[in-house]
Amino acid sequence: MYDPLVDARPDPQAAPASSYWQAHTHTVWPEPQQPPTQADMVVIGGGYTGLNAALELAERYQQQVVLLEANQLGWGCSTRNAGFAMPGTGRLGYQQWAERLGEQTAQAIQQEYRAGFAQLERHLAACPEQLQIQRGGYLKIAHKASTVAALKRQYEALSAYEPSTRWLDYEATQERLKSPQAHAALHFTHSFGVNPLLLASSIARQAAAAGAQLCPHQVVENIERNANGFTVRTQTQQIQAHKVLICSNGYTPNKLHPALHGRSLPVLSSVLVTRPLTATELAATGLTSQHLVMDTRVLKYYFRLLPDNRLLFGGRGAVRGKDANKAKYARHLLAALAATFPQLQRLSQQPPDYFWSGWVSVALDDYPRIYSPEPGLFTAMGYCGSGVTFTQVAGQRLAQLAMGEQLPALPFYQSELPRFPLASLRRLGQWGFYQWARLTQ
Ligand SMILES: Cc1cc2nc3c(=O)[nH]c(=O)nc-3n(C[C@H](O)[C@H](O)[C@H](O)COP(=O)(O)OP(=O)(O)OC[C@H]3O[C@@H](n4cnc5c(N)ncnc54)[C@H](O)[C@@H]3O)c2cc1C
Repeated sequence: MYDPLVDARPDPQAAPASSYWQAHTHTVWPEPQQPPTQADMVVIGGGYTGLNAALELAERYQQQVVLLEANQLGWGCSTRNAGFAMPGTGRLGYQQWAERLGEQTAQAIQQEYRAGFAQLERHLAACPEQLQIQRGGYLKIAHKASTVAALKRQYEALSAYEPSTRWLDYEATQERLKSPQAHAALHFTHSFGVNPLLLASSIARQAAAAGAQLCPHQVVENIERNANGFTVRTQTQQIQAHKVLICSNGYTPNKLHPALHGRSLPVLSSVLVTRPLTATELAATGLTSQHLVMDTRVLKYYFRLLPDNRLLFGGRGAVRGKDANKAKYARHLLAALAATFPQLQRLSQQPPDYFWSGWVSVALDDYPRIYSPEPGLFTAMGYCGSGVTFTQVAGQRLAQLAMGEQLPALPFYQSELPRFPLASLRRLGQWGFYQWARLTQ
């Protein structure tokens, strides 16, 4: 598998992820375009961030915008994720923001997430299959009794501002989820599950309809500044642009641009999908297809029942791209599934029907940035594996920034991504962190 810290660039002919979504989704993508030689704006990367930015630039600002995607549109995380639309991004929750920066800022951040949800509803309305939405909310579960008190404190901090948030005690949690690793839960009732591939194609169709030129299989090899802006080179084309928006996120090749070097850690996140659960298995687990579930571990596991009663179960993957598809990482997830649902012992001993991985971008200080590293150049990255909702607004904000607008005074928009100290040793640090997390949780 492509590895951003090892390979010079993604392979334009690499196959899509062998995912459940690819196998079970029929959708229409816009006609591929050939890049022109000139543009107002070049967007690099055709995931949610790049597509929303292109949509905003074409629709709201009538810019001539060209989007260059290395492979197929949505080839990165945006067609590989678990489809949890949650009120958040990065690894900091409401309570942590309130403690760091005060209630007012924490509330303004929540407001930004609401804008992400509003944009998701727009994309849902534009999708004939309604993104195959599953509305039922997101359960953040205390996986150990010792984590209940901290989760309750999060609920108390948040519920004063978000009254739709619910606290589920042990009995109420077990009614929804019969698991020895579910001691209580915080229920975000407004969250929902989507088919991520339908979401990517819905945004792409809208961006194309607004006039954006979407050009798949165009790998950007070089971005060079000149008197009129930038020359952007792909393997076959050369495009002169006034401004460039880098939206390649966790897939950004290490040497794409010096301003980004060492500012993100690409981390593999992996997902498996089982065969459909039998009626007996469903009854034994108490699962319904309503809820999205994630636990309170440092390295989290998450799961949801899909509309056809398969169980999607995800967590961390390998450290290196070359190991991503090794069977032991699927077995690791199956073992976690068995610990969550001992009733599914038989299921967890069968190889999953689908197993795949993708690169998420982790920021040193746990939250993304949308900023301009140098004049005319803009980027958004570092969502730390939580971007389905926030990329919808991040793409819009990035476009607004590129158009010279002032963004809200929120931490995402006020500074650049910090550089990792000893960036060449990022992987070693990651490996050490995994060992520590495995021993402590
Ligand atoms: C397994 C998995 C599960 C996840 N589950 C969830 C979830 O349930 N909820 C949630 O909120 N988030 C989840 N995420 C994270 C979420 O998917 C991402 O935050 C989001 O999709 C990021 O979108 P993006 O557009 O910024 O990046 P991406 O979708 O990764 O797009 C980046 C694109 O840039 C392209 N690119 C890279 N280099 C070049 C180049 N040189 N030239 C041209 N193009 C280039 C890549 O091909 C890629 O398509 C998950 C991620 C993974 C991997």
